[in-house]
Amino acid sequence: MMDGLIDIGANLAHDSFDEDRDEIMQRAAAAGVARMIVTGSSDESNVQAAALAEASSGVLFSTAGVHPHHASDYTDDSDALIRSLVKKDVVVAVGECGLDYFRNFSPREAQLEAFARQLEIAKDTGLPVFLHQRDAHDDFVETLEPALPHISRAVAHCFTGEHESLREYLAMGLYIGITGWICDERRGKHLHDIAHIIPDDRLLIETDAPYLLPRTLRPKPKTRRNEPAYLPEVVRVVAEARAQSVEHIARITAENARRFFSLPPCE
Ligand SMILES: [Zn+2]
Repeated sequence: MMDGLIDIGANLAHDSFDEDRDEIMQRAAAAGVARMIVTGSSDESNVQAAALAEASSGVLFSTAGVHPHHASDYTDDSDALIRSLVKKDVVVAVGECGLDYFRNFSPREAQLEAFARQLEIAKDTGLPVFLHQRDAHDDFVETLEPALPHISRAVAHCFTGEHESLREYLAMGLYIGITGWICDERRGKHLHDIAHIIPDDRLLIETDAPYLLPRTLRPKPKTRRNEPAYLPEVVRVVAEARAQSVEHIARITAENARRFFSLPPCE
């Protein structure tokens, strides 16, 4: 039994949770997940995530940003909305933002512009930034690196890359967010092998619920919808990959999350 865990990436504003969000939160608490950072990824989800956080203060916090998939919709109003939401105490980071050339749902030019504008918000506000990158490593580093000296902290959320990019991110000072991707014996084996190079003080854990259900969960859940209550499985597999105890992983990742997002002490 673990306690005090912090899920740094839960898409609780997602409509797949509309029917049973309260039960999802109860199950998370029962599983030892004390706090969750609700990911904002579009104008609509940014408003919703902040409202959820305000309704469950001390347990839920949120981010405000526009995912690269929605970069085409990034308007001056989106920018103003993020800037106004981050003034709230419960909104603790800018993002998720970044680049995704795997799907290219938005054209690359739009992605680059939306990303740069959100990095400006992180600079202006001093808030940490919650980053998404897929198949866009070079442009991502090129855009991010000049901004980093002016940004308080940054996390590569749902890191799924190779050894080389992990080393590069660590050298840039990034925190690394590990999801249940590491529990996937097909796609995540390389991650399992390199997880040990992340220093104790840079490691963060997340479910990315409702996505990325850990494949190692037993018994297998009836649906493929992931939820924060499954975070202990990520802890278990990360601990195994790093040859550390689950208690150690639980403790350091919670400490790191508190520091990263400047969370208030637990009530
Ligand atoms: Zn993401």
